[in-house]
Amino acid sequence: MKRFFPDCHTHTRHSKDSQATMRQYCERALEMGIDYLAFTDHIDLDPADFSFGYYNFENARREFEETRDEFGGRLEIAFGVEVSCQSSLAEEARREIEGRPYDIVIGSVHILDGLGGDISSRENTPRMFKEYGAEAIYRKYLDEVEASIEQGLYDVIGHIGILKRHGTPYLGNLDLAKFDDRIERIAEKLAKADVALEVNSSGLRQPPAQPYPDIEFVKRFIHYGGAKITVCSDAHVPENLGRGVPEALEMLKDIGVNEVTVFKNRTPRQEAI
Ligand SMILES: [Zn+2]
Ligand SMILES: [Zn+2]
Repeated sequence: MKRFFPDCHTHTRHSKDSQATMRQYCERALEMGIDYLAFTDHIDLDPADFSFGYYNFENARREFEETRDEFGGRLEIAFGVEVSCQSSLAEEARREIEGRPYDIVIGSVHILDGLGGDISSRENTPRMFKEYGAEAIYRKYLDEVEASIEQGLYDVIGHIGILKRHGTPYLGNLDLAKFDDRIERIAEKLAKADVALEVNSSGLRQPPAQPYPDIEFVKRFIHYGGAKITVCSDAHVPENLGRGVPEALEMLKDIGVNEVTVFKNRTPRQEAI
């Protein structure tokens, strides 16, 4: 039997860093045998963010409804967002989410307040590490991830560990073991909050060569009773749709995970893998 194939996090032209239409993704999804596809465009709340104010809910929703009319019988598609969460902007995040018909809301840490901006950006990350040092960056990143769980606004916490994308060379000099307790606490908090953990396969095609977060973190999450895991490519172009997802599913199977999670109307559903 064919294994369930989800992609719970993708970007379209409603994100400033993508040109793709929802239709292009759906066509690609059908070719690939994807079963569930969530569009999760960026909502950026910080005026310092390069795509601040770019997202337009009405336009995204209209395109989603047209796409659903066309592909609905052949493919399950979901309407979501990826909110850039910052502890200083929790109220702004709440206003963006409340009362809107999202299927899935991902909270992801991108911006580190007071440490020079976006930790997932090719241009910015090296500058941040050089200016503030790996220890301060890592500590602040973990603080923000923990805060994003505590906010209680999100169905899923996105790409934990994304700072490794462009920060791997800088983190290499840091004794990461001294953060083990923090990592453990985050895994426990996430599991007990009953929030889904995203396993983002984009890291497999980037320097860490591991998903975000790595499988060790997933094991800790499961150890504390975490049961909801979403899997995604974080594609910004249709060519990357589903990329790395089969490998990530295999890695999960290897550690004993037999189900992954998808969301509809912000309600989780487990699917066997
Ligand atoms: Zn992100
Ligand atoms: Zn994303």
